[in-house]
Amino acid sequence: MSDENTPICSAKGCRTAAVWVLAWNNPKIHTPERRKTWLACEEHREHLSEFLGVRGFLKDVVLLTEWESAERA
Ligand SMILES: [Zn+2]
Repeated sequence: MSDENTPICSAKGCRTAAVWVLAWNNPKIHTPERRKTWLACEEHREHLSEFLGVRGFLKDVVLLTEWESAERA
């Protein structure tokens, strides 16, 4: 169930469909409103959140479906 439109997890080497969006911001290079996003499958959500969290970059973790409906709104 993957085609080229299916968002894939951002974890290295992972080809699983993403379920979560991790919104983050690096204050050294981004303005405060800017949001970079990583995608994560269930398995990698915790790992990627921790990676961003320890650096103080993580702003939000939301379900991909919610993120997409928020973007359309
Ligand atoms: Zn993954």
